Amino acid sequence: MEKGTIKFLDTTLRDGEQMPGVALAPNQKLEIARALDDLGVDIIEAGAAITSEGERQAIKMISSAGLKAEICSFARALNVDIDAALACEVDSVHLVVPVSDIHLQYKLKKSRADVKKMALDATRYALDHGLIVELSAEDATRADPVFLKEFFLAGVKEGAKRVCVCDTVGVLTPEKSKELFSDLTKVIKVPVAAHCHNDFGMATANTLAAVQAGAQEVHVTVNGLGERAGNAPLEEVALGLVKFYDMHTGIQLKKLYEISRLVERVTNLPVSVTKPVVGENAFSHEAGIHTAGVLAYPPTYEPISPEMVGHHRRLVFGKHVGSHAIESELKRIGLEPTKDQVKEIFEQIKKLGDSGKLVTDAEWRAIVDAVMGRELEEIVKLEELTVVSGNKVTPTSSVRLKFGDKEVTESGLGVGPVDAAINAIRKVVEGMSNVRLQEYHVDAISGGSNSLVDVVVKLTDGKRMVTSRGTSGDIIMASVQAMLNGVNRLLWDRKLGGT
Ligand code: MN
Repeated sequence: MEKGTIKFLDTTLRDGEQMPGVALAPNQKLEIARALDDLGVDIIEAGAAITSEGERQAIKMISSAGLKAEICSFARALNVDIDAALACEVDSVHLVVPVSDIHLQYKLKKSRADVKKMALDATRYALDHGLIVELSAEDATRADPVFLKEFFLAGVKEGAKRVCVCDTVGVLTPEKSKELFSDLTKVIKVPVAAHCHNDFGMATANTLAAVQAGAQEVHVTVNGLGERAGNAPLEEVALGLVKFYDMHTGIQLKKLYEISRLVERVTNLPVSVTKPVVGENAFSHEAGIHTAGVLAYPPTYEPISPEMVGHHRRLVFGKHVGSHAIESELKRIGLEPTKDQVKEIFEQIKKLGDSGKLVTDAEWRAIVDAVMGRELEEIVKLEELTVVSGNKVTPTSSVRLKFGDKEVTESGLGVGPVDAAINAIRKVVEGMSNVRLQEYHVDAISGGSNSLVDVVVKLTDGKRMVTSRGTSGDIIMASVQAMLNGVNRLLWDRKLGGT
């Protein structure tokens, strides 16, 4: 490892999984661990071995998968926790001991001397059993700094290989972080890690400040998952270190978008569109003047290139679009529109946007096709759809789709008829291509039970994303139409090698 390289401990599988609404099966944890290893994370905190049988199974699968990263289990300063970690054959324990008076008094009901002794005994026990120890001070940023330093120095003397300052409730500021870490790294001769939470939206800034002050390891999670407001996001910290501080890390920035999508899919927690670095809109531009700038010279509105993190630029064609942007985008995908065609496309997009509706990708592209006399090839075509739903019946659907020259039949169950139909179609589409449904929205256009239903879906094939719409008096047909419109658009573009 290059000198001055900042180590990454990823805790998506432990702190990330501790957040409400996330529970991963062992094979899902392994899938994420492999991706983290591939990304270049140095240490993977795979879970807390003491938690459950399933957790131990997951950690064991990860530690025996032959990954390059050090595999670590969370442990309290208790022999049972360390024994559980040992049973999972991990390389190290992240030994977490509360140090603030609030935690000691209300949670542990123990004195400072008690917890210090517990920490040292547990460190010794783990070392005697061949584990690497990273000694972590929980709620360190609300603890007495004199005690904190004393606690770490004793731990290092006992044999801890690294120590970690946990900003457990996210109360650091960049200034305080710099001060605290400078103070500690001056006297502690092993790497000091920063574990920051995002309660005040400052986890990334505090982590970067800690590194500036000498911290040599950072604790992060993919997409910033974690308890309450989450942990410092891996993607932001990795990019910040490189972009602003010229630091070396083992992280392959080009894989950040991909791992973000993987974790989003596996945990079922959607990433906000405005999430820095990996959000769907992080490199999207709609307003005419912005798109013109970006097309002329990307840095005008992009501080980094999307390719750097494996993301993609997306030009959104809504009512703010400029004709220059339309022309450039069409040229980029290999079309040569005339001036009159550009004008016609421009006017039709504005008209659609002015109706107050979102202009989906499939729609603006349909306008282009119509104006330029191109016909979208229907690669996937609905041949037959049946849905059964009612009282005391599990909603079930069967579909027959024409996929190119093949006919495919599938069935699906769901919580309701729409879900069942979408699931049946999904099975065909996901089986034949790697197109996935990412979002589903439904609106009734007018009042009444006979109103038109408007469904907008967002689909992705991992590289590209499209939004598409289906409108019908029948909610099932509107949903199916939206899916198929989007799938056809994605597959057609892929076939043409465009966008
Ligand atoms: Mn934490």
